[in-house]
Amino acid sequence: LRVHAHPLNDGEERRMGSLIVLHNLTRINQLESIRQDFVANVSHELKTPITAIRGYVETLLDGAIDNREDAEKFLNIIHRQGSRLDAIVDDLLTLARIEDTAEKNEMEMQEETISPILEAVIQTCRVAAEQKNITITMQCLPEQLTATINRSMLEQAIINLLTNAVTYSPEGSTIHLRAEQQNKATTNQSIRIDVQDQGPGISHEHQKRIFERFYRCDKARSREHGGTGLGLAIVKHIAACHNGEVELQSRMGSGSTFSLILPKQN
Ligand code: ADP
Repeated sequence: LRVHAHPLNDGEERRMGSLIVLHNLTRINQLESIRQDFVANVSHELKTPITAIRGYVETLLDGAIDNREDAEKFLNIIHRQGSRLDAIVDDLLTLARIEDTAEKNEMEMQEETISPILEAVIQTCRVAAEQKNITITMQCLPEQLTATINRSMLEQAIINLLTNAVTYSPEGSTIHLRAEQQNKATTNQSIRIDVQDQGPGISHEHQKRIFERFYRCDKARSREHGGTGLGLAIVKHIAACHNGEVELQSRMGSGSTFSLILPKQN
Protein backbone atom coordinates (compact mmCIF):
# COMPACT_ATOMS: atom_id res chain seq x y z
CA LEU A 1 0.00 0.00 0.00
CA ARG A 2 1.39 3.43 -0.91
CA VAL A 3 0.10 6.43 1.13
CA HIS A 4 0.15 10.08 0.04
CA ALA A 5 -1.05 12.82 2.38
CA HIS A 6 -1.83 16.38 1.25
CA PRO A 7 -2.83 19.21 3.60
CA LEU A 8 -6.13 20.86 2.69
CA ASN A 9 -6.15 24.59 3.42
CA ASP A 10 -8.88 27.17 3.01
CA GLY A 11 -8.26 30.44 1.10
CA GLU A 12 -6.56 32.00 4.16
CA GLU A 13 -4.02 29.29 4.74
CA ARG A 14 -6.02 27.78 7.56
CA ARG A 15 -5.76 24.03 7.76
CA MET A 16 -9.16 22.43 7.06
CA GLY A 17 -8.10 18.85 6.97
CA SER A 18 -5.98 16.40 5.05
CA LEU A 19 -6.48 14.52 1.85
CA ILE A 20 -5.09 11.03 2.13
CA VAL A 21 -4.64 8.96 -1.03
CA LEU A 22 -4.10 5.23 -0.70
CA HIS A 23 -2.68 3.44 -3.74
CA ASN A 24 -3.43 -0.24 -3.74
CA LEU A 25 -0.37 -1.88 -5.32
CA THR A 26 -1.58 -5.42 -4.88
CA ARG A 27 -2.86 -5.77 -8.45
CA ILE A 28 0.28 -4.20 -9.96
CA ASN A 29 2.49 -6.46 -7.88
CA GLN A 30 0.40 -9.48 -8.86
CA LEU A 31 0.78 -8.69 -12.56
CA GLU A 32 4.51 -8.18 -12.15
CA SER A 33 4.85 -11.49 -10.36
CA ILE A 34 2.83 -13.28 -13.09
CA ARG A 35 5.16 -11.75 -15.70
CA GLN A 36 8.25 -12.83 -13.77
CA ASP A 37 6.90 -16.36 -13.37
CA PHE A 38 6.17 -16.48 -17.09
CA VAL A 39 9.69 -15.39 -18.05
CA ALA A 40 11.17 -17.91 -15.61
CA ASN A 41 8.93 -20.66 -17.05
CA VAL A 42 9.78 -19.82 -20.65
CA SER A 43 13.48 -19.83 -19.84
CA HIS A 44 13.20 -23.18 -18.11
CA GLU A 45 11.16 -24.72 -20.92
CA LEU A 46 13.63 -23.54 -23.56
CA LYS A 47 16.69 -24.47 -21.52
CA THR A 48 15.66 -28.09 -21.06
CA PRO A 49 15.94 -29.06 -24.75
CA ILE A 50 18.96 -26.80 -25.27
CA THR A 51 20.82 -28.51 -22.41
CA ALA A 52 19.97 -31.91 -23.86
CA ILE A 53 21.13 -30.90 -27.34
CA ARG A 54 24.44 -29.53 -26.03
CA GLY A 55 25.00 -32.59 -23.87
CA TYR A 56 24.53 -35.04 -26.74
CA VAL A 57 26.62 -32.96 -29.15
CA GLU A 58 29.48 -32.93 -26.60
CA THR A 59 29.19 -36.69 -26.14
CA LEU A 60 29.39 -37.14 -29.91
CA LEU A 61 32.42 -34.87 -30.14
CA ASP A 62 34.06 -36.73 -27.28
CA GLY A 63 34.13 -39.88 -29.38
CA ALA A 64 30.61 -41.33 -29.50
CA ILE A 65 30.55 -40.33 -33.16
CA ASP A 66 32.82 -43.30 -33.94
CA ASN A 67 30.15 -45.77 -32.88
CA ARG A 68 27.53 -45.66 -35.60
CA GLU A 69 24.72 -47.08 -33.49
CA ASP A 70 25.28 -44.64 -30.60
CA ALA A 71 25.74 -41.75 -33.01
CA GLU A 72 22.42 -42.48 -34.68
CA LYS A 73 20.63 -42.72 -31.34
CA PHE A 74 22.06 -39.41 -30.12
CA LEU A 75 21.37 -37.63 -33.40
CA ASN A 76 17.75 -38.76 -33.20
CA ILE A 77 17.47 -37.30 -29.70
CA ILE A 78 19.03 -34.03 -30.90
CA HIS A 79 16.55 -33.94 -33.77
CA ARG A 80 13.61 -34.53 -31.43
CA GLN A 81 14.74 -31.87 -28.97
CA GLY A 82 15.17 -29.45 -31.87
CA SER A 83 11.55 -30.09 -32.92
CA ARG A 84 10.51 -29.47 -29.33
CA LEU A 85 12.17 -26.08 -29.32
CA ASP A 86 10.45 -25.31 -32.59
CA ALA A 87 7.04 -26.29 -31.20
CA ILE A 88 7.49 -24.19 -28.03
CA VAL A 89 8.51 -21.10 -30.02
CA ASP A 90 5.58 -21.63 -32.43
CA ASP A 91 3.11 -21.85 -29.55
CA LEU A 92 4.60 -18.82 -27.79
CA LEU A 93 4.27 -16.81 -31.00
CA THR A 94 0.67 -17.98 -31.44
CA LEU A 95 -0.13 -16.85 -27.88
CA ALA A 96 1.55 -13.48 -28.41
CA ARG A 97 -0.31 -12.98 -31.71
CA ILE A 98 -3.66 -13.75 -30.13
CA GLU A 99 -2.97 -11.38 -27.24
CA ASP A 100 -1.89 -8.66 -29.62
CA THR A 101 -4.92 -9.04 -31.87
CA ALA A 102 -7.25 -9.05 -28.88
CA GLU A 103 -5.60 -5.97 -27.34
CA LYS A 104 -5.90 -3.99 -30.53
CA ASN A 105 -9.41 -5.23 -31.12
CA GLU A 106 -8.41 -6.31 -34.59
CA MET A 107 -10.04 -9.71 -34.73
CA GLU A 108 -11.80 -10.31 -38.00
CA MET A 109 -15.12 -11.91 -37.22
CA GLN A 110 -17.44 -13.39 -39.79
CA GLU A 111 -20.60 -15.39 -39.74
CA GLU A 112 -19.51 -18.93 -40.61
CA THR A 113 -21.19 -22.31 -40.92
CA ILE A 114 -19.72 -24.53 -38.23
CA SER A 115 -19.87 -28.04 -39.76
CA PRO A 116 -17.20 -27.46 -42.48
CA ILE A 117 -14.89 -26.20 -39.72
CA LEU A 118 -15.40 -29.39 -37.72
CA GLU A 119 -14.78 -31.46 -40.85
CA ALA A 120 -11.53 -29.60 -41.56
CA VAL A 121 -10.32 -30.11 -38.00
CA ILE A 122 -11.09 -33.84 -38.11
CA GLN A 123 -9.17 -34.03 -41.38
CA THR A 124 -6.15 -32.43 -39.68
CA CYS A 125 -6.19 -34.94 -36.82
CA ARG A 126 -7.10 -37.98 -38.93
CA VAL A 127 -3.64 -39.49 -39.35
CA ALA A 128 -2.81 -39.27 -35.64
CA ALA A 129 -6.20 -40.82 -34.75
CA GLU A 130 -5.78 -43.65 -37.29
CA GLN A 131 -2.39 -44.53 -35.84
CA LYS A 132 -4.13 -45.30 -32.55
CA ASN A 133 -7.19 -46.80 -34.20
CA ILE A 134 -9.31 -44.04 -32.66
CA THR A 135 -12.73 -43.21 -34.15
CA ILE A 136 -13.85 -39.59 -34.28
CA THR A 137 -17.60 -38.96 -34.62
CA MET A 138 -19.10 -35.64 -35.56
CA GLN A 139 -22.50 -34.08 -34.97
CA CYS A 140 -23.77 -30.59 -35.65
CA LEU A 141 -27.21 -29.44 -34.49
CA PRO A 142 -28.80 -27.85 -36.42
CA GLU A 143 -26.81 -29.03 -39.42
CA GLN A 144 -26.53 -25.48 -40.75
CA LEU A 145 -25.44 -24.03 -37.38
CA THR A 146 -23.67 -20.69 -37.82
CA ALA A 147 -21.83 -18.27 -35.53
CA THR A 148 -19.84 -15.07 -35.84
CA ILE A 149 -16.25 -16.16 -35.30
CA ASN A 150 -12.69 -15.85 -36.48
CA ARG A 151 -12.35 -19.02 -38.50
CA SER A 152 -8.63 -19.70 -38.23
CA MET A 153 -8.62 -19.05 -34.49
CA LEU A 154 -11.61 -21.28 -33.85
CA GLU A 155 -10.02 -24.03 -35.96
CA GLN A 156 -6.83 -23.72 -33.93
CA ALA A 157 -8.75 -24.04 -30.64
CA ILE A 158 -10.64 -27.15 -31.75
CA ILE A 159 -7.47 -28.69 -33.22
CA ASN A 160 -5.74 -28.24 -29.85
CA LEU A 161 -8.62 -29.92 -28.00
CA LEU A 162 -8.92 -32.76 -30.50
CA THR A 163 -5.14 -33.33 -30.59
CA ASN A 164 -5.13 -33.63 -26.80
CA ALA A 165 -8.09 -36.01 -26.90
CA VAL A 166 -6.24 -38.22 -29.41
CA THR A 167 -2.96 -37.99 -27.47
CA TYR A 168 -4.34 -38.87 -24.05
CA SER A 169 -6.96 -41.45 -25.16
CA PRO A 170 -6.33 -45.19 -25.26
CA GLU A 171 -6.03 -47.13 -28.52
CA GLY A 172 -9.31 -48.11 -30.13
CA SER A 173 -11.40 -45.55 -28.22
CA THR A 174 -13.93 -43.07 -29.60
CA ILE A 175 -13.92 -39.26 -29.52
CA HIS A 176 -17.15 -37.31 -30.04
CA LEU A 177 -17.00 -33.87 -31.58
CA ARG A 178 -20.33 -32.04 -31.25
CA ALA A 179 -21.56 -28.55 -31.97
CA GLU A 180 -24.98 -27.31 -30.98
CA GLN A 181 -26.96 -24.19 -30.47
CA GLN A 182 -27.90 -23.33 -26.93
CA ASN A 183 -31.16 -21.49 -26.57
CA LYS A 184 -31.10 -19.86 -23.23
CA ALA A 185 -34.10 -18.14 -21.68
CA THR A 186 -32.29 -14.87 -22.28
CA THR A 187 -32.04 -13.38 -25.74
CA ASN A 188 -28.29 -14.06 -25.92
CA GLN A 189 -27.84 -17.19 -27.95
CA SER A 190 -24.64 -19.16 -27.80
CA ILE A 191 -23.09 -22.16 -29.46
CA ARG A 192 -21.36 -25.00 -27.69
CA ILE A 193 -18.62 -27.17 -29.15
CA ASP A 194 -17.81 -30.32 -27.17
CA VAL A 195 -14.80 -32.60 -27.50
CA GLN A 196 -15.56 -35.71 -25.48
CA ASP A 197 -12.98 -38.45 -25.00
CA GLN A 198 -12.71 -41.79 -23.23
CA GLY A 199 -9.27 -41.04 -21.86
CA PRO A 200 -7.97 -41.27 -18.27
CA GLY A 201 -9.84 -38.19 -17.05
CA ILE A 202 -8.39 -35.27 -15.08
CA SER A 203 -8.50 -34.98 -11.30
CA HIS A 204 -10.01 -31.95 -9.55
CA GLU A 205 -6.60 -30.78 -8.40
CA HIS A 206 -5.33 -30.60 -11.97
CA GLN A 207 -8.58 -29.17 -13.39
CA LYS A 208 -8.02 -25.96 -11.47
CA ARG A 209 -4.68 -25.30 -13.13
CA ILE A 210 -4.82 -27.07 -16.46
CA PHE A 211 -5.37 -23.89 -18.52
CA GLU A 212 -2.24 -22.20 -17.15
CA ARG A 213 0.74 -21.85 -19.45
CA PHE A 214 3.16 -24.77 -19.20
CA TYR A 215 1.00 -26.64 -16.68
CA ARG A 216 0.90 -30.38 -17.27
CA CYS A 217 -0.63 -33.15 -15.18
CA ASP A 218 2.12 -35.54 -16.18
CA LYS A 219 5.27 -33.83 -17.39
CA ALA A 220 6.98 -36.94 -18.74
CA ARG A 221 3.88 -38.01 -20.66
CA SER A 222 3.40 -34.57 -22.21
CA ARG A 223 7.06 -34.33 -23.26
CA GLU A 224 7.00 -37.81 -24.70
CA HIS A 225 4.34 -36.83 -27.23
CA GLY A 226 6.05 -33.51 -27.95
CA GLY A 227 3.56 -31.39 -25.99
CA THR A 228 4.48 -27.82 -25.13
CA GLY A 229 2.10 -27.31 -22.20
CA LEU A 230 0.66 -24.32 -24.04
CA GLY A 231 -2.19 -25.93 -25.99
CA LEU A 232 -4.94 -25.28 -23.45
CA ALA A 233 -3.68 -21.78 -22.62
CA ILE A 234 -4.12 -21.01 -26.32
CA VAL A 235 -7.65 -22.47 -26.29
CA LYS A 236 -8.58 -20.32 -23.29
CA HIS A 237 -7.22 -17.20 -24.98
CA ILE A 238 -9.14 -17.90 -28.18
CA ALA A 239 -12.37 -18.42 -26.23
CA ALA A 240 -11.81 -15.12 -24.42
CA CYS A 241 -11.20 -13.31 -27.72
CA HIS A 242 -14.66 -14.48 -28.81
CA ASN A 243 -16.17 -13.28 -25.51
CA GLY A 244 -16.71 -16.92 -24.71
CA GLU A 245 -15.28 -19.48 -22.34
CA VAL A 246 -13.96 -22.99 -22.12
CA GLU A 247 -15.32 -25.54 -19.66
CA LEU A 248 -14.04 -28.89 -18.53
CA GLN A 249 -16.04 -31.78 -17.19
CA SER A 250 -14.02 -34.76 -16.16
CA ARG A 251 -13.60 -37.46 -13.59
CA MET A 252 -10.70 -39.79 -13.10
CA GLY A 253 -11.36 -42.93 -15.07
CA SER A 254 -14.36 -41.61 -17.01
CA GLY A 255 -12.92 -39.45 -19.76
CA SER A 256 -12.99 -35.71 -20.27
CA THR A 257 -15.26 -33.28 -22.07
CA PHE A 258 -13.84 -29.90 -23.03
CA SER A 259 -16.47 -27.39 -24.19
CA LEU A 260 -16.08 -24.12 -26.02
CA ILE A 261 -19.04 -21.85 -25.34
CA LEU A 262 -19.20 -18.87 -27.65
CA PRO A 263 -21.80 -16.20 -28.25
CA LYS A 264 -23.60 -16.83 -31.55
CA GLN A 265 -23.15 -13.19 -32.47
CA ASN A 266 -20.15 -11.06 -31.64
P1 ADP B 1 0.34 -30.43 -23.59
O1 ADP B 1 1.18 -29.88 -24.68
O2 ADP B 1 1.16 -30.93 -22.44
O3 ADP B 1 -0.68 -31.41 -24.06
P2 ADP B 1 -1.91 -28.70 -22.94
O4 ADP B 1 -1.96 -27.30 -22.47
O5 ADP B 1 -2.59 -29.01 -24.23
O6 ADP B 1 -0.39 -29.12 -22.98
O7 ADP B 1 -2.52 -29.63 -21.82
C1 ADP B 1 -2.06 -29.49 -20.48
C2 ADP B 1 -2.13 -30.83 -19.75
O8 ADP B 1 -3.48 -31.20 -19.57
C3 ADP B 1 -1.50 -31.99 -20.50
O9 ADP B 1 -0.12 -32.08 -20.26
C4 ADP B 1 -2.26 -33.18 -19.95
O10 ADP B 1 -1.66 -33.60 -18.74
C5 ADP B 1 -3.63 -32.62 -19.62
N1 ADP B 1 -4.68 -32.93 -20.64
C6 ADP B 1 -5.06 -32.12 -21.66
N2 ADP B 1 -6.06 -32.67 -22.38
C7 ADP B 1 -6.32 -33.87 -21.80
C8 ADP B 1 -7.26 -34.93 -22.06
N3 ADP B 1 -8.12 -34.85 -23.09
N4 ADP B 1 -7.25 -36.01 -21.24
C9 ADP B 1 -6.38 -36.07 -20.20
N5 ADP B 1 -5.47 -35.12 -19.89
C10 ADP B 1 -5.44 -34.02 -20.68
